[in-house]
Amino acid sequence: MLRTHNCGELRKEHVGTEVTLCGWVENKRDHGGAVFIDLRDRYGLTQVVIGPPEADQAQIDAAGHVPAESVILVRGKVADRLQGKTNDKLATGAIEVRCPELEILNACQTPPFTPGQADLPGEDLRLKYRFLDLRRPEMLRAMVLRSTIIKEMRDYFAEHDFIDVETPILGRSTPEGARDYLVPSRVHPGSFYALPQSPQLYKQILMVAGFDRYVQVAKCFRDEDLRADRQPEFTQLDLEMSFVDADDIMGLIDGLVAQTAKNVLGKEVKLPLPRMTYDEAMRRFGHDAPDLRFGMEIVDVTSVAKKTEFRVFRATADAGNFVRGIRAEGAAEKYSRRQIDELTEFVKDFGAKGLAWFRVEEDGSLWSPVAKNFDAEHLAEIKSLMAGEPGDLLMFLADSWEVTCKGLYALRKRLGAELKLYDADQLHCSWVTEFPMFERDEESGRWVAMHHPFTAPLKSDLEKLDSDPQACRAQAYDLVINGSEAGGGTIRIHDQKTQSKVFELLGIDEATAEDRFGFLLNALRFGAPPHGGIALGVDRWVMLLAGLENIREVIAFPKTQKASDLMTEAPGAVDQDQLTELHLRSLAKKAE
Ligand code: ASP
Repeated sequence: MLRTHNCGELRKEHVGTEVTLCGWVENKRDHGGAVFIDLRDRYGLTQVVIGPPEADQAQIDAAGHVPAESVILVRGKVADRLQGKTNDKLATGAIEVRCPELEILNACQTPPFTPGQADLPGEDLRLKYRFLDLRRPEMLRAMVLRSTIIKEMRDYFAEHDFIDVETPILGRSTPEGARDYLVPSRVHPGSFYALPQSPQLYKQILMVAGFDRYVQVAKCFRDEDLRADRQPEFTQLDLEMSFVDADDIMGLIDGLVAQTAKNVLGKEVKLPLPRMTYDEAMRRFGHDAPDLRFGMEIVDVTSVAKKTEFRVFRATADAGNFVRGIRAEGAAEKYSRRQIDELTEFVKDFGAKGLAWFRVEEDGSLWSPVAKNFDAEHLAEIKSLMAGEPGDLLMFLADSWEVTCKGLYALRKRLGAELKLYDADQLHCSWVTEFPMFERDEESGRWVAMHHPFTAPLKSDLEKLDSDPQACRAQAYDLVINGSEAGGGTIRIHDQKTQSKVFELLGIDEATAEDRFGFLLNALRFGAPPHGGIALGVDRWVMLLAGLENIREVIAFPKTQKASDLMTEAPGAVDQDQLTELHLRSLAKKAE
């Protein structure tokens, strides 16, 4: 080693010891007579002094010229800091290292920003100079947390007898419903590999192979439009088990959640984690990943709407649609008319035509710009259904089931944050189960699998595959942490008859199924055990456990919203020769 100690290690008991330290120049104070340097490495900061009597003026002058963020080596003696100059905030704050000279191992050019600067530079700059950005203690902390969480996961599954198997990156398209990243084959002209959207098919095949319990920290790739918490390549903790039902998988993950929360955050999580069905989640929260850190549940007042003279409510109810609302406790005085107008505009983004609202007055009556359209009796009924109390704001959407779900979900989420209805440090984990097997693809109007086409229906719903596919529920379960989907999985179909029926419903004919997933279907004919699994989004877990809101903060080298890596400038152009070798010609116009 070049060094005898790291920069976070020296204490009072080291006073008098000769040491060699290496690190980055975080800070430099040139006091003319002496130069003070805060030397930084992963472990901490140590104050280094180049001054008399150890150093002569030439050495002091040289130290004064070392650029910030350079990597240096110093050799010297640990000394007490002068009385009153100790720094209690620093683990090494009782001492300093006094040295005659320093050696520059690598001088730093003027950096576009420094890790220690108070104001964070723009994200593009941080991503371009990621090596500087990763020097920031916040980034280091996030990456250490990530490493700890992944180790916890690996340990947990090793303790539970799982076998860690790596599955290929170059493979066939996997059926997660996103666009594939394709890799052209040089050896097979015109043929392509697809990067895995998940190891789904391989892990099922490992069950057919009798491995019983498979786990992998797997890289997955989906070419989708990105949101703040999505990346084109991401990491899943992926697992599969044989001879299990949904309860077994959820029970196993309950244990992982509790162990991780305890070992990583020192938090107790009560088990079993609460579960609710998809239908209940949509009814009470308008979404399949509800934030259960606070109440403000959706209430259906369609029964009253049917009776009122208020045209908007009445017509909606008569058309078989819904009037549903939420109660923002004590919010009446916090939202002015103008702010409520803003909320109205906000829900319009989710397809709502407007927002009807009522204020519960001191005397318990309801006030609203539209109140005159209601009988007192109906107002009282609305108040009672909503459990309204003086000072509350009651807000309603009158629309289709989907629009009331979407709009009220978004409104509840916004109000929950604005009214600070939860403690940001709190961790709330729960399950949502019994998802529908199918949903309509809005563009084509066709049924698509809500999860993927290998998902098994609930046993009690099997005959609905024929009679009422829309009502057929799946043996599917999603893990929700603080209102975010943090994992999802299903029990799989393992008999040919059900599988064919599901393919048929999805409009996948036999030939297409054979062409796309023939290898899996074939394996299922060779002694397949009942099996199921789940995948947990590692990036999202780390983000949620770190209390962050941007997934790029927990990935060492993330991509931007436009799927570029600003540091390496990927994706980038390639030589014509490379394209020729791959039997490709580009149709894209060359960038100007
Ligand atoms: N392959 C699924 C996914 O990536 C997870 C699973 O069903 O196990 O969402």
